[in-house]
Amino acid sequence: MSQPHNAVSSPLKPLSDRYRRTVDYVRLAVTSQCNLRCMYCMREEHTVYNPEGEALSGDEIVSMLAVLARMGVSKVRYTGGEPLLRQDIVRLVRDAKALEGIETVSLTTNGLLLDRYLDDLVAAGIDAINFSLDTFDPERYREITRRNLFDKVHSNLLRLLECDALLVKINVLLLRKVNIDEITTFVELTRDRPVTVRFMELMPFDDHQIWRTGKFMGADKILETLHACYPDLQPMQGDATEYFSFSLPGYKGKVSVIPAFTRNFCSKCTRLRITSAGKAINCLYSREGTDLLDALRSGGQDSLEQLLRKSVEAKPRDGREAGGSALRTSMSEIGG
Ligand code: SAM
Ligand code: SF4
Repeated sequence: MSQPHNAVSSPLKPLSDRYRRTVDYVRLAVTSQCNLRCMYCMREEHTVYNPEGEALSGDEIVSMLAVLARMGVSKVRYTGGEPLLRQDIVRLVRDAKALEGIETVSLTTNGLLLDRYLDDLVAAGIDAINFSLDTFDPERYREITRRNLFDKVHSNLLRLLECDALLVKINVLLLRKVNIDEITTFVELTRDRPVTVRFMELMPFDDHQIWRTGKFMGADKILETLHACYPDLQPMQGDATEYFSFSLPGYKGKVSVIPAFTRNFCSKCTRLRITSAGKAINCLYSREGTDLLDALRSGGQDSLEQLLRKSVEAKPRDGREAGGSALRTSMSEIGG
């Protein structure tokens, strides 16, 4: 029998797949809209082009998370599109944190609206923020994001770096002949602050196929450049996708390289993605998602549970089994 999400809730069987992986981490795209147009992610005309339809309401998101928490999900990340475009983002963090079983709630943002929300997000209990920024050069920022908003984003980054109430990571998408010359500027952010700077590989998820224009910079090249600049890098343990992690003697933070494309983490993948249109996506490379919207809107939590289970049971062993790449028009559909 179905029950409202705020009822006293009993645990459900964990969300396991055919390969004995148990999903404990949900990445939820709370909107597919964005206030930037990063060249590797979205077309300029994205709004017109948006295939996603309407975003889930706040109540729908919290109801869904309540069911997922009962199935053993303990980590939630809000992403998008740009999650801070949701005016109810603080409520989404607070309500997710209040769910029994949810241990961490974080978000990934381009930081443009962070000054508006940071204090309230901290008060709501947010555990971590990933701030995406690829350059400290205003003109380059304009070229990458197609918006002339560097000063705003920079002051918001400085403000976040001053905040010691949460874990801060900086996502840097490294592109050949675009921003590789800034690698040391980013590493130096870790000198005096306990932040993690994460250098990421480009992935083939944009329909302009920037991918095919020679900008891809593999993890091997990123590592080579890092070692050339910093011969005393010390390897250390990183989080699940932070396959290569380092610290520098005397530096407070950490540097990671995320080989998102060249190395797959599939055997250890315990993630489920949910799009802003309410589709469960069991793999970045899956062709189809499982539509949860009808079950959510008809209030049928039993069928929601079944659909989530069906999606996770069908989780492919790896990206190859899922069917291949270059299927998405934008990373913003699935939140990265
Ligand atoms: N708008 C937010 C932001 O930019 O942080 C959240 C959504 S964005 C899709 C999440 C992450 O995906 C960002 O760090 C972005 O750099 C990354 N991303 C977008 N397109 C990508 C691509 N084609 N390859 C690799 N990473 C990508
Ligand atoms: Fe927007 Fe993030 Fe995509 Fe850039 S990467 S266009 S900020 S969703």
